[in-house]
Amino acid sequence: MFYISTRGATDRKRFCEILLEGLAPDGGLYLPESYPQVTDATLERWREIYHRQGYAVLAYEILSLYIDDIPAADLRALCAKTYTAEVFGTGEIVPLRHLESDVWLEALSNGPTLAFKDMAMQLLGNLFEYELARRGDELNILGATSGDTGSAAEYAMRGKKGVRVFMTSPHGRMSAFQQAQMFSLQDANIYNIAVKGVFDDCQDMVKAVSNDLSFKRKYKIGTVNSINWARLLAQVVYYFAGYIQATENNSQKVSFAVPSGNFGNVCAGHVARMMGLPIAELVVATNENDVLDEFFRTGVYRVRGSADTFETSSPSMDISKASNFERFVFDLLGRDGVRVKALFSDALGRDGQFDLSREPAFTQAAARYGFVSGKSTHANRLDTIRDTWKRHEVMIDTHTADALKVALEHRTAGIPMVVLETALPVKFAETIVEALGRVPVRPVKFEGIENLPKRVTVMDADVSAIKALIADQCGY
Ligand SMILES: *Cc1c(COP(=O)(O)O)cnc(C)c1O
Repeated sequence: MFYISTRGATDRKRFCEILLEGLAPDGGLYLPESYPQVTDATLERWREIYHRQGYAVLAYEILSLYIDDIPAADLRALCAKTYTAEVFGTGEIVPLRHLESDVWLEALSNGPTLAFKDMAMQLLGNLFEYELARRGDELNILGATSGDTGSAAEYAMRGKKGVRVFMTSPHGRMSAFQQAQMFSLQDANIYNIAVKGVFDDCQDMVKAVSNDLSFKRKYKIGTVNSINWARLLAQVVYYFAGYIQATENNSQKVSFAVPSGNFGNVCAGHVARMMGLPIAELVVATNENDVLDEFFRTGVYRVRGSADTFETSSPSMDISKASNFERFVFDLLGRDGVRVKALFSDALGRDGQFDLSREPAFTQAAARYGFVSGKSTHANRLDTIRDTWKRHEVMIDTHTADALKVALEHRTAGIPMVVLETALPVKFAETIVEALGRVPVRPVKFEGIENLPKRVTVMDADVSAIKALIADQCGY
């Protein structure tokens, strides 16, 4: 399997070459040269595998179609080590819970940080450790977080050989729970850096360090952001597992509703559908930051400025642009890299938007690719959380509530609608209290974490200070 860039560069790369990379050198995102096709017989075999051997073996089956530069036995072992009941709470790893008639919740948030990003990040941690050992190399991950991504990365990389994580976050601005989750990690390779400033200051520092190419090279600086192909690939697996659990045979179709921000999660659904998984619709749900809903309704993709990017009660979907969206547009436009480059590099840079409404391809977004969309507001979120609690005694988090709200607008009789549960309510307790007047239960392993000793360095938003810290800790 070879990987190509969405912006038309002609070099082809293997999986392990792009594993530790971010963007392709031409600024595009990597995609496989073609999507392996899953026949009915294969899907039947995978159904058996999931039921009899479990999620990790299913993951191996799917990953092995895309990864041919890691020996099969090693890849199998990496999957087995990643997807365990111990790490993800249940043997099913992503159990399906029935809500009502054709509506189901797929639990993706029982990993170490209680959000779906663990599904991919835990695998990434093991892949990084494996590949770095093979190369005899090291990697220093530098990132900025306002919550979820940073903690998922830290829990995935803690204790991993050859990897250090330097994670900046805005000092005093994360919830007490989020701070405790990250800062209580005592692993020597995890560095929490609380920056006196806001999230943008953190991001600016990370950019400034990455733009210093000689520093970046000398200190082996990398990232784990959501455009990483390995993360997306790991997510493809739970669409298959969700489908298998929601159906009895392969003649049935299933729709998925996905709370979306950077389009990483639902893009994995698109890949599964392109492989032949019988998905009827992919329901893209946004919050007030409705870049994606606007596109699927109108054909106009319009990046928001910071004044038009809202802080909402489903904060992990608060985005100004959807970084993985370019992958879908590449497929939509018949994999024409030159056109994708013109849209994402030239038009977006110049006008902050592009318009595909007159493209025949755009009208096929729904018919050919299954995409539909909708949005949800704070009031909708509260209503959905309340309604779900009242009718089913099921407590859902704010992001899942956005997806459920939009899912209910797109139901088709007889087709199971699987809503992806992307976080547990305890992570967003304030809004749950607002909706229900009660505090969500906290998994036992997180009881009292606010009282644990914290390991964090507080610093000014000063690029030279963070460079000094990295240099000092690397010692080379
Ligand atoms: C990251 C995240 C999302 C959005 O996923 P994308 O892949 O960015 O679309 C939704 N819900 C939660 C809880 C998240 O952490």
